[in-house]
Amino acid sequence: MSESIIGRARKSGAVEVNCHQLRDFAFDKHRRVDDAPYGGGMGMLMLAEPIALCFEDICKQIGKRPHFIYMSPQGKTLTQSRIKELAQLDNVCLLCGHYEGVDERLLEEFVDEEISIGDYVLTGGELPALVLADSLARMIPGVLSDDECFEQESHYNGLLEYPQYTRPSVWRGREVPAVLMSGHHKNVEAFRREQSVIRTAKKRPELIEKAELTEKERILVKELISEE
Ligand code: SAM
Repeated sequence: MSESIIGRARKSGAVEVNCHQLRDFAFDKHRRVDDAPYGGGMGMLMLAEPIALCFEDICKQIGKRPHFIYMSPQGKTLTQSRIKELAQLDNVCLLCGHYEGVDERLLEEFVDEEISIGDYVLTGGELPALVLADSLARMIPGVLSDDECFEQESHYNGLLEYPQYTRPSVWRGREVPAVLMSGHHKNVEAFRREQSVIRTAKKRPELIEKAELTEKERILVKELISEE
């Protein structure tokens, strides 16, 4: 979070990211934040109280209660449309689990939402939290420059982005589509839109079913499907 686009955004003040050490809210001399689960079984669980104290301290520091998200493989899978909604909030607090997870009572008492980054299990919530923080930060006005704009990118409007090319115009015998060098903006736009539709239908057919398409585009998709 200190490098490149997000690092610059933090320096400019467009976004603020703070990490909180749960051990600072532990109450025994070893600063323990975990214990064995009741009922037995493998692994350790994170204690409820240090997390509760830390969250209450954050609320006090910022003067309001941030939306509290637990990064969890049991949560709803993160999508661009959920990121768009979360980017409207002033503050979010991300809880990274570790070991076997977190005492269920803490989740019931404090957590507003559980978010997963996919149907697989990692050792801790730090990478999922970074994924969410990065994807959220780039939606904040002022974080991306105009030429890095997110509105053209995959998933923003339910489609995948069109293919892109840079110099040289011929690389190992492969030519850049002529329309992209024509300087004709309307034709370029139409080409890109059509390519977006085609590649979404081919690469992610489950997305194309939900996408907003024109009648002509629906016919194109039908033809593509019947060709396969
Ligand atoms: N025992 C938990 C279960 O089966 O649901 C898994 C715990 S996992 C080993 C440890 C921590 O990693 C979780 O508490 C969570 O914070 C994080 N984590 C693991 N996979 C994740 C995923 N796919 N999405 C978000 N967080 C995840």
